[in-house]
Amino acid sequence: AKADGRGSVRLFEPAMEAEVRRRREVELELSAALENGEIRAYFQPQMGADGTTVVGCEALVRWLHPRRGLVSPGEFIPVAEHSGLITLLDMYVLREACRTARAWPGIKLGVNLSPADFLSHDLAERIAAILAETGFDPSRLEVEITENLLVGNQPEAISILARLRAMGMRIALDDFGSGYSSLGYIRRFRIDSLKIDRSFTQNIGQTDDAPAIIDCVVRLARALGVSVTAEGVETREQLRYLKSVGCHNMQGFLFGPPMPAADFEAFVRRQGSA
Ligand code: C2E
Ligand code: CA
Ligand code: CA
Ligand code: CA
Repeated sequence: AKADGRGSVRLFEPAMEAEVRRRREVELELSAALENGEIRAYFQPQMGADGTTVVGCEALVRWLHPRRGLVSPGEFIPVAEHSGLITLLDMYVLREACRTARAWPGIKLGVNLSPADFLSHDLAERIAAILAETGFDPSRLEVEITENLLVGNQPEAISILARLRAMGMRIALDDFGSGYSSLGYIRRFRIDSLKIDRSFTQNIGQTDDAPAIIDCVVRLARALGVSVTAEGVETREQLRYLKSVGCHNMQGFLFGPPMPAADFEAFVRRQGSA
């Protein structure tokens, strides 16, 4: 840290040091956790347009910490992204999810990739190896990327996405509408589906413009042949609205939270016999 001559910056030094130390600790613990089997994939159901058929799931990472219990990704993904661990973590979750979801015929699988993963030049090959190892059908796999990856327009990222597509995977643009998302990306990066950020879903019935935006995004997506998933669906009112505008898929606590594989299987069975 630098001094500004009045000492005001110095006040933050201890806090910054503590933060650096905490990150180092999490980093060390996390790399051990990957080897100890403390890292798990949870699965959140994705429903079709009727709101009752399970069409897919999203794999979401959880850390079953021996002392701290269930740790959510918000606490360690940023640390993993700053260290070199994120790709190890994401490939671990991908392998775990493919191995598990292989036994769920007809159910799509969404997995999250961090922009940092695309710094690995062999990312597409690593993913291909995991698909081969687990025998998972690439056409059932949807990789979720964020617009942060796309803003730079890096040729390497574009070429990796093209290789994934060529293997039969679908590409979803996550958190759509939360940042600089532009409909231009959809064509340029040949996006197959959009996930509307939950801030829009949750404003249905709260603010006047959120529903209009969703309606507009669904229309444009349909015109471009792209499918739309609404995230963060929590209420019947939101479901009713999303159905009325023809949203293709829905995900949220109204249907089910992210859950361990066995619970997800039970969930699918229950929906099936409803
Ligand atoms: P995301 O990809 O946008 O995932 C959706 C998040 O919204 C999940 O949080 C999920 O639990 C939460 N959610 C689902 N339905 C609802 C709802 O109805 N209401 C509310 N309030 N929240 C809902 P989670 O599991 O804590 O994950 C947070 C973020 O961490 C994810 O956001 C994603 O960006 C990242 N993440 C999770 N797993 C992975 C992973 O394996 N790899 C990478 N790179 N990132 C991951
Ligand atoms: Ca996601
Ligand atoms: Ca999202
Ligand atoms: Ca996110």
